Amino acid sequence: MLKYLLQEAEKVSRPFFSKNELIEQYSVAEFERLTGLKILSYCKPTKDTHESVRKPRCHCGSPLTVVEVDSDLEGFCPEHPDDGPWLLDKDDRISYEFPIKILLEHISSANDFEGQLKEISGSCYYLGYRIYPETQVGFVFVRKISKSAFVELSGLKSICDKDRVLVILTLSPDEDIILQKNLENQSVIQLPLLDVLNTDNFALSINHIISDHLKKLGIAEGTQLTKQQRLDYDKFGYKCYDQISFPHKHGKGRNYLININGKEISIQYHEMLFLIFLAIQLKQNNGGGWISGEQLEKQEVTRDSIAHIQRLRSDLKKQLNPYLHKMNSDEFLQNDKKGNYRLSVHPDFVYLADEWSEKKFDTLKNAVIKERKRRKKYAV
Ligand SMILES: [Zn+2]
Repeated sequence: MLKYLLQEAEKVSRPFFSKNELIEQYSVAEFERLTGLKILSYCKPTKDTHESVRKPRCHCGSPLTVVEVDSDLEGFCPEHPDDGPWLLDKDDRISYEFPIKILLEHISSANDFEGQLKEISGSCYYLGYRIYPETQVGFVFVRKISKSAFVELSGLKSICDKDRVLVILTLSPDEDIILQKNLENQSVIQLPLLDVLNTDNFALSINHIISDHLKKLGIAEGTQLTKQQRLDYDKFGYKCYDQISFPHKHGKGRNYLININGKEISIQYHEMLFLIFLAIQLKQNNGGGWISGEQLEKQEVTRDSIAHIQRLRSDLKKQLNPYLHKMNSDEFLQNDKKGNYRLSVHPDFVYLADEWSEKKFDTLKNAVIKERKRRKKYAV
């Protein structure tokens, strides 16, 4: 039913419907769902002498004029005053409006848009925005696109000046490929609302489209940040948005396999001990995941010298660098120059398999310590 309402809204700016025409085409349940959500709202018919109904009709095809006779409703054809009257039901009256703003409010909340829904002009609304790494993506609804669409749509970019990317949802699908390309070059993505809207829950299937566009702009994978994640980025100053997972998977020899941004790499076990310790700290610690060099030594994650930590860090940096979004492993394996270290990403972007319980971590640590002792023994 929502699709039909949207199609009608494309034709006229304030479409009205009768209950009977909607439930005949669709269902009472769907009608009640949409009135319950206030997407369809009842408007009391005015005492208008020109009120007419679309259904039923005269045999000539003309709409019938409504007349109240006592408490009954009757319809007459102005062309055939001698025919009829047709007895009308109150639900034949065209008394339900489809205020598009209410639908847009449902879309904003179902898709976690931040900011306020606001009307830009009669047929254009700003729905809100989402935050992606280093990027704000804004969403705008435009009911009708005119001939000067390029100027108008790219002009919206200056109104929504905080939005690096703007997604414009329109009612009519636009077949103008050149216009779309030009808009895309300005980071304005135009999408027909009906193609991307789930009419049951108002979710928009737009994630892959935004993600592809962000990749084209050279921005890290288009992972949307939740409000909490964004607050954490502000509070703890994490530098990166890379995804790293520790699946507890063995590689060749004593190596372990980890996964960075979807690519698998093999890490030597003593380096793994350092890396996974930082990951565990980050996941457990709510102070941003920092751990001091002294603690690393005390917990026997590294040997008892600062030079050893620096060498481990430097070796890991070289290995991880090619797989990081910004290829900046110095930020990813962050050192605050005061002797503290951490993985500089949000804890939600670090995945630790359940197997990395304390026990498995201790097994790895004991193996590394044993090897250290063996080497020391044979060292000249
Ligand atoms: Zn007639």
